[in-house]
Amino acid sequence: THFGFETVPEAEKQARVAEVFTSVAESYDRMNDLMSFGWHRVWKDHFVRTLNPGFSPLSMPPSAPQHILDIAGGTGDIAFRLLHHAQTINANPSVHVTVSDINPSMLAVGKQRSLLLPANQQSSLSWLEANAEDLSACRPLHSDPSAATVSIPDASVDLYTVAFGIRNFTSIPAALREAHRVLKPGGVFACLEFSKADAYPLFNAVYKRWSFGAIPLIGQLVAGDRDSYQYLVESIERFPSQEEFRDLILDAGFVVGGEGYENLTGGVAAIHRGMKP
Ligand code: SAM
Repeated sequence: THFGFETVPEAEKQARVAEVFTSVAESYDRMNDLMSFGWHRVWKDHFVRTLNPGFSPLSMPPSAPQHILDIAGGTGDIAFRLLHHAQTINANPSVHVTVSDINPSMLAVGKQRSLLLPANQQSSLSWLEANAEDLSACRPLHSDPSAATVSIPDASVDLYTVAFGIRNFTSIPAALREAHRVLKPGGVFACLEFSKADAYPLFNAVYKRWSFGAIPLIGQLVAGDRDSYQYLVESIERFPSQEEFRDLILDAGFVVGGEGYENLTGGVAAIHRGMKP
């Protein structure tokens, strides 16, 4: 069996995405390294460096409080980098990162990993079960399922990050609307995602060969789960091009600088940024 996502109704897509990430949570970090030859670390480092979290030009020392919302934060890779950058590069202790994900299994792995961080970083993190398409009904990780849900308030977030998550969403426009709602005016939406490497045909051919041939196989051998990794490869193929995605960001009411995106490794991944006016 494999995941024929185009033909499944929305609720079912969400259930399958849940199944995929519950199944890969434990092996996720190791698999990322294997599948991307470690490149995902380089991309994530670059993503965080260019966002320069914790920097505030108006105060000296720069320690203005910042609330960062890391959406589809999974096992914490982006959140940990954001906090490390804010605290060690910008010496800003007043940055708080909310790591949110629709999948509690991914968050649980992240929370466990965070126990290895210095205490001041651990205390600047919180963990939230949240569907990116509806941030008005979230719940703290492992909270009582019968307790009331919490809403991320309008205009409460300085920086919204999403890395390798948005292509799994059922509705990208719905997620962008929610990003726009929760960001403060002047706040930044930033997305790191697999993208199109079409500009380099030979490189693209090798890359496609690798992703469609080897990744499901590695998934089968290392994680014992071919279907989930087959789905991951297909979801990359279906994701909009750099320009199409930039236009969706504009449609949601953001402004972008220049082309609105930056290609990484020939477009295998790309960073999109938008500011809420
Ligand atoms: N950001 C992390 C990173 O870069 O390592 C994790 C990326 S992982 C490939 C994608 C994550 O998106 C999974 O943890 C999955 O549960 C989450 N996800 C999928 N659909 C979601 C949704 N609608 N809302 C929030 N998170 C979602």
